[in-house]
Amino acid sequence: MTIFTKIINKEIPATIVYEDEHCLAFRDIHPQAPVHVLLIPKKAIPTLNDVSPADQLLLGHMLLVAPRIASQEGIAADGYRLVFNTNRDAGQTVAHIHLHILGGRALGWPPG
Ligand code: 5GP
Repeated sequence: MTIFTKIINKEIPATIVYEDEHCLAFRDIHPQAPVHVLLIPKKAIPTLNDVSPADQLLLGHMLLVAPRIASQEGIAADGYRLVFNTNRDAGQTVAHIHLHILGGRALGWPPG
């Protein structure tokens, strides 16, 4: 079980900005931008490499929810970035897939 399962189960606190039957979004504890929200499925999937066709609706749902959160956070028009870090080279530190929603400033490219 990861720390994100504990957040889903409300066993540890988080600042939740969105929740529905399938997913949960909360503020990153170490924000890398003025807006830094993590959108996670309630289903525990370790990495994006582990998704299956059965997860198609869930992943599509997350991509519908993310812009709604961006809009709610006031960054939709100016712009934002969505990131799934996967495994070591991308710096994934929590083995429960999470979509970073980053915005509120101009973001550099390419990533460091
Ligand atoms: P990763 O590096 O795996 O893509 O992203 C994991 C993110 O989870 C990091 O940005 C980190 O700051 C965040 N994080 C780790 N533990 C916690 C926690 O307990 N609460 C919250 N809100 N964010 C966390």
